[in-house]
Amino acid sequence: MKTLYNLLLLLLMLSHSTINAQRNCGQEIMLQAIETKHAGAREQIKAARAKLYNSNSTIQESISAPSGKYFKTTATPLIPVVFHFLLDSNTFKQLGNISGIEARLNSQMKVLNNDFNGLNADKIKVPSVWTSLYANVGIEFALAQIDPAGNSTIGYTLTIVPNASSFDVSDGAKDMKFSATGGVDAWDNSKYLNIWVGNIKFGGANVLGVTVPPATPLYTIPEYGIALHQFAFGVRTSFAQPFITNIDKGRTLTHEMGHFLQLIHTWGDDGGLCAGSGGNDDDMSDTPNEADATFGDPTFPRFDVCTPAGNGIMFMNYMDYTNDSSMYMFTKDQAARMNFEVGLGGTSFSLTLNRYLGDTQYKAPIEIKLYPNPTSGIVIFQYDFIKNPLLQVIVYNALGQKLIEKNDKNINSIDMSVLSKGLYFVQCKFANESLLQKIILQ
Ligand SMILES: [Zn+2]
Repeated sequence: MKTLYNLLLLLLMLSHSTINAQRNCGQEIMLQAIETKHAGAREQIKAARAKLYNSNSTIQESISAPSGKYFKTTATPLIPVVFHFLLDSNTFKQLGNISGIEARLNSQMKVLNNDFNGLNADKIKVPSVWTSLYANVGIEFALAQIDPAGNSTIGYTLTIVPNASSFDVSDGAKDMKFSATGGVDAWDNSKYLNIWVGNIKFGGANVLGVTVPPATPLYTIPEYGIALHQFAFGVRTSFAQPFITNIDKGRTLTHEMGHFLQLIHTWGDDGGLCAGSGGNDDDMSDTPNEADATFGDPTFPRFDVCTPAGNGIMFMNYMDYTNDSSMYMFTKDQAARMNFEVGLGGTSFSLTLNRYLGDTQYKAPIEIKLYPNPTSGIVIFQYDFIKNPLLQVIVYNALGQKLIEKNDKNINSIDMSVLSKGLYFVQCKFANESLLQKIILQ
């Protein structure tokens, strides 16, 4: 009897986990929904993305920032992340209660960090013709250790929702993001990257994830973030665990994080067309032209109508739709785009400014005072040169061009009187931190 029961349980799980046999993502659904409500919005979004990225320099974007504000960055930017689980009681049990959820959460964070830092073990599968394009993106993610009230936190919230609740992705899973609609309000989106996890669907079918990247037109700041399906996060450690079939290695979040950092699908979301023939590209120069999404576990080389020869399409890119085990690379161009977004002037820059929220080992930010500002030439640096020696000072103009560079140890002043009057940026580099300040020369 027990065997029969186990068999039934197994069948139940198998039937459960085959609801969705291939990857999908809510991005296309969301874009279509925006377009229905606001004709032309899709093009507007595209134009806005291009304009931001093609602007001369990240420094130029910061001209509107308040005068005298320090911009702090670290060698590898770190983004504090908070998960909001919205699970019904059955799902909570299926996931293995608190311990099961935490195990998945930790495995998920590991995959995310490996994939973004050149550490994914399956990178050895990258075809040799593309190994030079494989990128170590160089962005870290950490579960929040401090909550918005300043208290210590475990990095996630858990809310039990009514049985069989689901959230529609066509509006970016908006209902999950507001307590007024049965969701959980975002933690300050300028400091934390919010990820909601629950039963996300479209037209009755499971959707693996949907992302509202920062600065998406027609969306509000509290909606910025990622929504993941409750059975598409974390890494499988046993056969019995519920996962969407072939989506059990944590790659959905890698893919959605790409969207959050302003990447689009490798085929350009144009319904099968080719760039240059009425279709879109993904705006990346080093991903091959691709007609439509690629599913399953293809073998290299794979060709399509847009790339019918040569090395074929890059189906192993995280921004395609292949199974978790068949995607294992971002390209250098994609990495550059994402680094732009976490850099000064990028849409996720503010998320990198509060490293301590996710990294308790992180020492308090270095303080340095530059004065006078405005200056007529000489700028004095006041800082603790014993604890944190200053290693390098660079002066940029508003176009981001380097004008002065000083590499002496323990620099205590610079002379800008050789420059013409105007706005400059002074970057102070310490061993593990670099600070940038706007200085007006008059
Ligand atoms: Zn997607």
